[in-house]
Amino acid sequence: MDNTLLDTLRGIVGPAGLLAGDELRARQKPQQLHAYALVRPASTAEVSAVLAACHAAGVAVVPQGGLTGLVHGADAQAHEVILSLERMNRLEPVDITQRVLVAEAGVILEQAQAAAEAAGLLFPVDLGARGSATLGGMVATNAGGNSVIRYGMMRNNVHGLEVVLADGTVLSSMNQLLKNNSGYDLKHLFIGSEGTLGVVTRVVLRLCEAPAGRCTALLALSDFDAVGKLLRRLDHAMAGTLSAFEVMWQDFYQVVTTPPAQARPPLPQDHAFYVLVEASGSSTDQADRFAQILSDAMEHGLVADATIAQSERECQALWALRDDVRQLGRFGPLAAYDISLRLADTATYVETVRTSIQARWPDAQLRAFGHLGDGNVHVAVHVPDMNTADRAELDGLVYTPLQALNGAVSAEHGIGIEKKAWLGLSRTPAELALMLLLKQSLDPKGVLNPGRVVDSRL
Ligand SMILES: Cc1cc2nc3c(=O)[nH]c(=O)nc-3n(C[C@H](O)[C@H](O)[C@H](O)COP(=O)(O)OP(=O)(O)OC[C@H]3O[C@@H](n4cnc5c(N)ncnc54)[C@H](O)[C@@H]3O)c2cc1C
Repeated sequence: MDNTLLDTLRGIVGPAGLLAGDELRARQKPQQLHAYALVRPASTAEVSAVLAACHAAGVAVVPQGGLTGLVHGADAQAHEVILSLERMNRLEPVDITQRVLVAEAGVILEQAQAAAEAAGLLFPVDLGARGSATLGGMVATNAGGNSVIRYGMMRNNVHGLEVVLADGTVLSSMNQLLKNNSGYDLKHLFIGSEGTLGVVTRVVLRLCEAPAGRCTALLALSDFDAVGKLLRRLDHAMAGTLSAFEVMWQDFYQVVTTPPAQARPPLPQDHAFYVLVEASGSSTDQADRFAQILSDAMEHGLVADATIAQSERECQALWALRDDVRQLGRFGPLAAYDISLRLADTATYVETVRTSIQARWPDAQLRAFGHLGDGNVHVAVHVPDMNTADRAELDGLVYTPLQALNGAVSAEHGIGIEKKAWLGLSRTPAELALMLLLKQSLDPKGVLNPGRVVDSRL
């Protein structure tokens, strides 16, 4: 690769918009160290020109947002150019009547949430990485998070998009309408495509009315059968206000409530399962009703113990322990899996995987938790001194049982590089062939995030 492309890119984004050589190495985290250059365009026109130049030169481009993705989709290699959206971080004023917020793709989730809140509205997609994840990255991964059971994933909360294709073509699809059946809804092609079909530059977010308040509780359950029954019961009784149903297996709960973790156990640590449940609503007697519903569930033997948050501070403390996933890393490097399957199959699946892993590595530890209200379980596995071959074997033990259960190897994090070999477990050959056809049609030279999600050939 010569310097001509670097000069062209510098000419497009200006000296402050391009990092290469020592400057780049000084800035980057280890896993993104090996890029040819990092460009930081400040507008859609600049993104378009950057992509057109790289396309003409046949150089691969890797879009990067907040780098919170968990499947290495944004990790670059030495011959690739990183396209960071960090300078495209402008928000337009909230349109209160239409209940939309137009934002550039580099806006951090927390900032979009704050803008909606300041206008008395809510952007309901929320996740632990809210302080770093960008809207563009969230669109690209179809991010889910903590309130999917009530509000859906990014796909359900985006009205329109502006995307730049691999050759620099700008596709403006900035729809602001709730209903628009005028032909194909092209935004859905790009939502969840992990930067392989286009670079998201602007987003029209769908906002909704902010709930007047929320009620949060931590419940302890003695068996998994009760988890499914409780979900059904709460969802029915709360009449559409159930906004979170997060389940923690006992060993996960123990880790996040034992020093050096900050949280102390709000409930004793010897129950089999813990459920963080939340209802968001507008009625003034909601707290009483919430308490009554939980009390009924206890009387029916579904809940063994419970604590209801009495203040916003207590509510945040309950969420903080659920979100303290960093504690899982204190035993050494982790393999983290993001599985989707039928709720009824989940406990058996987790125990099957735990048994097979511990038969292979007796000192291995597995901890499970996740958005079980959405059928999404996160499985975190620590195998002492795990090497690359161990990791491949571990992946097989975790993913193979999913095929018989019609489960998915990714619930919300995406495929990236990490799960590409396993995509065929969750998709049919016809689906894979159509994915390839789309990739080849939109990016015939294979320069946009190549090697992620699908290969250019099956
Ligand atoms: C503590 C923690 C908690 C998390 N919790 C959740 C959760 O509950 N739910 C969930 O879904 N995820 C969760 N994640 C994963 C992560 O936050 C999401 O995948 C998020 O959407 C990634 O956004 P990002 O801006 O960091 O993207 P990046 O990590 O930078 O990129 C992710 C992918 O998107 C592509 N991309 C980035 N920006 C663009 C763009 N503008 N156009 C096209 N492609 C682009 C990249 O090439 C890459 O393939 C969590 C992560 C952490 C660290």
